[in-house]
Amino acid sequence: MLSGVQWLDASLFGVLGLLFGSFLNVVVHRLPKMMEQQWANECAELAGKEVVAPTPFNLMVPRSRCPHCGHQIRWFENIPVVSYAALRGKCASCKAPISARYPAVELVTGAMFYWCAWQWGASASGIAWCAFSALLLGMALIDWDTTLLPDDMTLPLMWLGLVASALQWTPVPLATAFWGAVAGYLSLWSIYWVFKLVTGKEGMGYGDFKLFAALGAWFGWPLLIPIILIASVIGALVGIAMKFTSGLREGGYVPFGPFLAGAGFTAMLIGPNTLRQLVGI
Ligand SMILES: [Zn+2]
Repeated sequence: MLSGVQWLDASLFGVLGLLFGSFLNVVVHRLPKMMEQQWANECAELAGKEVVAPTPFNLMVPRSRCPHCGHQIRWFENIPVVSYAALRGKCASCKAPISARYPAVELVTGAMFYWCAWQWGASASGIAWCAFSALLLGMALIDWDTTLLPDDMTLPLMWLGLVASALQWTPVPLATAFWGAVAGYLSLWSIYWVFKLVTGKEGMGYGDFKLFAALGAWFGWPLLIPIILIASVIGALVGIAMKFTSGLREGGYVPFGPFLAGAGFTAMLIGPNTLRQLVGI
């Protein structure tokens, strides 16, 4: 059914998504650096060294600058997608190319928010699924860049999944969501330890367990196996694509988080209820 209100809500969410995508770029760029700074401080503290008060660096300050010439980005150079197009992908001052990933992240976030509002309306459910997809996108990019999955993102995603279930923003009963979180964590944790005891290698990180726990909270325990299968398929496809484009990474290590995030996103697009029918549970 085509409804004017539905279209208006979705468009509004789409624009908010573009703006939020712009913020997500900042998070992806800065959160790993903030984590490193915190670890360095904690190490210094443990070693009994004096912690030097660092210059403020967080998601708000300092203002964004061109990494090549230090030119401070002015507000009109920071309008999602539009500025990138107007500047033709170059810094306004030194003309150094700006990564196309910035407008791509903005567009993808805008599209995700549009889709969520279209699907669930401008409701608590719609907002919750917007947060779900934005957190997944941010984590996928950070893990891909740095092989880190920040607790500041995996844990809120898990709690939000449980809260969303308790308030019936998702169609998953609370007990199913709760055991989903428990089983999600423990299953990958067990695989990690078996793999480590057998091969002496670490195939995953603790962030992966927490992310899988979060997906368990959002979709419930019965969908954990379909989700891990989808993640493996995405991982295999990306692996094949990387082989053909010879895009081998430094050290050859490919993080699993982006594929888990991709599977979570796929499960959202298919819908928890439809996915359950598809796999016959
Ligand atoms: Zn510049």
